Amino acid sequence: MPELPEVETVVRDLRPLLVGRRLAHVETGPHQLREPWDPAWRPRLTGRVVAAARRRGKWILLDLDDAACLVVHLGMTGQLTVTAAGQPRASHTHLVAPLDDGRDELRFRDIRRFGSARLFAAAAAVDEFLRDRLGPEPFDLRAEELAAALAGTDRCLKAVLLDQTVVAGVGNIYADESLFRAGLHPARRARTVTPAEAARLRDAVAAVLTRAVEYRGSTIRDYVGGSGLRGGFQDEFAVYGRTGEPCPACGGPIECLRLAGRSSHFCPVCQPATTRRRGRVAAG
Ligand SMILES: [Zn+2]
Repeated sequence: MPELPEVETVVRDLRPLLVGRRLAHVETGPHQLREPWDPAWRPRLTGRVVAAARRRGKWILLDLDDAACLVVHLGMTGQLTVTAAGQPRASHTHLVAPLDDGRDELRFRDIRRFGSARLFAAAAAVDEFLRDRLGPEPFDLRAEELAAALAGTDRCLKAVLLDQTVVAGVGNIYADESLFRAGLHPARRARTVTPAEAARLRDAVAAVLTRAVEYRGSTIRDYVGGSGLRGGFQDEFAVYGRTGEPCPACGGPIECLRLAGRSSHFCPVCQPATTRRRGRVAAG
């Protein structure tokens, strides 16, 4: 499932290919996405110029020259690309917008159709839509903010990191990689985390995401960037998807636990379940 590094890569790829270009018209496929496509959006999009491409959390925001905004979520298998019109349209292509003279096309493909595309009349409406859904971006998140969020919940660390209202853009892969980097067990009760550990976790999340963006994200199955290129960070995983393989730090086997309905990969040596503080062992 695309997370922040993948969505950021799509947006960075799309900017030079899409910004300043006119959507000549919009064609929709026969199948509904998770959110129904309103037929009224088609005439409103036709002829509009894309003014900017932005990311917020895992959402792609395409600002149009009339102040409207096309908001796309890639769901699990979404691909938003600019493609030469001569390239055959792959199956499961749900939206196509020929650009300018029609030599290139903006295409939205989504095999499993958990993704969505919807048009908002103005940026303020987008802000309102995202406000309740998203907390701060990981790079803006202050350590004290994260410490306060962790202290105020009975959930485990993994569940809190997956909560988009605590920090936007982190999903299963980068939660596991960040907890490994911070040396924190995914099942640890969030409220037992010290301020110093919260600061370490905040820095680990930012470092892992920064590095993953440099690698253009991770391609596990369907993800490609906005120009159709795959990601490379899947070869850099320390723990994610590596159950039974050696930990890159200590060489012991990586383990896997089911937490918050998701597989959580961790090293039981580098990420101990209990913490030793002030000479006594506190339950994790
Ligand atoms: Zn280890």
